[in-house]
Amino acid sequence: MTLSSAASAQPSTADAGKGAPGQAETAAATLAALRCAQPLLWLRPAAPAEGAAPDAGTRFRPELVLLARARFERFAPLLAELAPELAGSGGIIESPLLPVPAMQQSLGLGSADGRLYVKADHDLAIAGSIKARGGIHEVLQYAESLAMREELLRPGDDYRVLGGAAARACFARHRVAVGSTGNLGMSIGIIASLLGFQAEVHMSADAKAWKKARLRAHGVKVIEHTGDYEQAVAAGRAGAESDPYAYFVDDERSPALFAGYAAAALHLREQLQAAGIGVDADRPLFVYLPCGVGGAPGGIAYGLKMLFGEHVHCFFAEPVQSPCFLLGMMAQCGQAPGLPALPSVYDVGLLNRTEADGLAVPRASDLALAAMATRLAGVYTVSDDRLFADLARLHDSEGLRVEPSAAAGFSGPARVCGTPAGQAYLREHGLQDRMDHATHLAWTTGGRFVPPEEFEGFLQRGRNAIAADAARA
Ligand SMILES: *Cc1c(COP(=O)(O)O)cnc(C)c1O
Repeated sequence: MTLSSAASAQPSTADAGKGAPGQAETAAATLAALRCAQPLLWLRPAAPAEGAAPDAGTRFRPELVLLARARFERFAPLLAELAPELAGSGGIIESPLLPVPAMQQSLGLGSADGRLYVKADHDLAIAGSIKARGGIHEVLQYAESLAMREELLRPGDDYRVLGGAAARACFARHRVAVGSTGNLGMSIGIIASLLGFQAEVHMSADAKAWKKARLRAHGVKVIEHTGDYEQAVAAGRAGAESDPYAYFVDDERSPALFAGYAAAALHLREQLQAAGIGVDADRPLFVYLPCGVGGAPGGIAYGLKMLFGEHVHCFFAEPVQSPCFLLGMMAQCGQAPGLPALPSVYDVGLLNRTEADGLAVPRASDLALAAMATRLAGVYTVSDDRLFADLARLHDSEGLRVEPSAAAGFSGPARVCGTPAGQAYLREHGLQDRMDHATHLAWTTGGRFVPPEEFEGFLQRGRNAIAADAARA
């Protein structure tokens, strides 16, 4: 079976995008489906001014991607010393690119629709999630600039000097703070405490208990908040603002985080080359990125567009209860009349309640939205049941263990290849006849440190969802 033939089995009424009927009508239909928490695919309309001022309002430049990569390399020898788990990679924090033919089959994706791969960020060291990229980069950048300012480090030095007594004493006088639903806190908290900083993580109510416990075990101060992600961030920001010895990592506004994520594209290009996977007009690359605030997927999409231009098609995936980036994109495109310029999911009556804690964000980052204005292909939404089902499929077919958020990429190929909206996208880009050469890349964004008993629960729920689905069909 190919997905084109499976299209009729998908709920297609909720799929909306550009094309007939009129765009306004389709946008209204998308908003209506979104309010009802229906899974859907939204396509970004081609901006009329595209090309004229592609990065108006963006505080981000391509050089920053190269600088981030170079910074990771400068710090690698130090990280290899500080973290035993990095000794094997010489201090480089990277993930493999994996072919997943059994998962492809399990999803019903035929070879006529291309080939499915996983970019295995669920297995990244230190953080156990994609947050290793942005979060660690920002803390390294802060450590570097602080050490330079204090004359503990000069350009060209061996960065292992930062593991010495003088640098550590300096870092110990400084505090690194962050607000998080869990994974960013794990990344920032653990790298900051490895370097010798005081680390403070403000956790939202939906943060998992095991993530808090893991941080405390690493000597990180965890402050629990009863509110959501935005409130945790606000509390962390306010606490650090008045303190000259405190540095706040701002998930909603940080170019340093964005650059750390974007650098992933440079490494992926090498992996694609090594695997003999071409990316060009004949061999399109589709990338499916789980999205919370938009920094991680936005940074990666930015880097990929920088390297592969029109030949890469980046789709973001969000839970049906937390489609904040989709809403933000629609507002940016003038498709959300009556909503604020930077809308939250509460504004459309959604609850931001999802088991995908890495994606449980009510409002998108405006930095990421601006950067995606001319780069994003589209956004689709996924029910929690589908997340668990794909988590179980991935485990049972390929033996990979991801957390629910990280499974959001796997419904992407079916959305693109097997729905009317997706097919409209392929037609518009002249890709219908090239799909047998397509590469689909699901970015698995977290999971390495999920406790086994927690994972067993996910797996059970996923298998139940698959069984219930089969019983309905
Ligand atoms: C943070 C996170 C994402 C998304 O990153 P944002 O920058 O919030 O968009 C996706 N998956 C997991 C597991 C995450 O922790």
